[in-house]
Amino acid sequence: MPAVAAPAKVLVTGANGYIAIWVVRRLLEAGYTVRGTVRSPAKGEHLKKSFESYGNKLELHIVEDITKEGAFDDAVKGVDAIEHTASPFHFKASHPDELLGPAVKGTVGVLQSALKFGTDVKRVVVTSSCAAVLQVVGDPKVFSKSNWNEQSIKAVEEKGKDAHPGDWYRASKTLAEKAAWDFVAKNKASIQWDLVVLNPPYVFGPVIHEISSPDQLNTSMDEIYSTLLKHSKDDQTLASLGNAWIDVRDLARAHVLAIQREQAGGNRFIVCAGSYKWQDFGASALPKGIPGASKAPGVAHMFQYDVSRARDVLGVDQYITLEECTKDSLEDFKERGW
Ligand code: NAP
Repeated sequence: MPAVAAPAKVLVTGANGYIAIWVVRRLLEAGYTVRGTVRSPAKGEHLKKSFESYGNKLELHIVEDITKEGAFDDAVKGVDAIEHTASPFHFKASHPDELLGPAVKGTVGVLQSALKFGTDVKRVVVTSSCAAVLQVVGDPKVFSKSNWNEQSIKAVEEKGKDAHPGDWYRASKTLAEKAAWDFVAKNKASIQWDLVVLNPPYVFGPVIHEISSPDQLNTSMDEIYSTLLKHSKDDQTLASLGNAWIDVRDLARAHVLAIQREQAGGNRFIVCAGSYKWQDFGASALPKGIPGASKAPGVAHMFQYDVSRARDVLGVDQYITLEECTKDSLEDFKERGW
């Protein structure tokens, strides 16, 4: 039996974001009714237009400031499930608190509202990140659901503003996810819903949220754009630098499965298509890097992930390939004339 079956109503926070709009799309396609939160009516216009054909299956709800106490109190009323994606992912902040505040307060806030006013809520899904899992250890490592990024929390605690901005973001995701699990543990006796957390690495793939120029791209797609089309990395960097990734469409599918699969409740799922070096994107795109270098024997991927729980429990058993993701991302850019 699904935990939450269509046509149930699902709240998606930050619905105008890169990942969230794909979640909205996949939920609507699966027959769910969606309530999306955005910061202002203007930020909802593109969503309304994109999903016009679904009529009143999509409603929008304004949450101006996710850090305000009770921000989601009204938004959770009458929904059967919640997908909490809203959280800052950028490197434009001038202080770590600009990321930590909305990440932690937004997550705890939505859970608090669900506890108080979400009488119909059966499941809450939080979009965490591999940023909450990985640590930079200097050697290649396969990370699993039991790993936590204590390193970035420590860096921000000890160095504050002088910590690496990457640590600001990673600490924000780690602290937010920890706060979610703590909240559930503390309130076990009084909540009637369960929690599912998704931990994706870098997310790439076609953009369907509202942007009119490359400088408005979200952080992960900006990396793709600047690397593949603006040649921001030299050949050596292309051959040696990499990370792990998932296509945004697979991640959106995982968000739908996360509310459907009854047995998913109470789990943290790493969803990841694989590890890459930047030049692996070169097959269909410029620049080429150093041919063969990323596939040479002994080439190490620092961040690898065990995705067995997502396969066995969530049912995410296939991933869009890097080639397809690259092709579709580049086609999307081309259609925009970039
Ligand atoms: P995005 O396009 O920047 O979307 C972020 C969403 O969160 C937007 O709706 C944004 O609203 C909202 N938001 C951010 N800060 C906020 C604040 N202070 N108050 C209210 N709303 C706020 O980013 P994304 O890449 O889709 O990321 C979505 C989620 O996935 C985040 O939780 C992120 O940590 C996680 N994630 C992303 C990646 C990736 O590679 N993209 C990887 C792993 C995890 P506005 O548009 O109004 O600013």
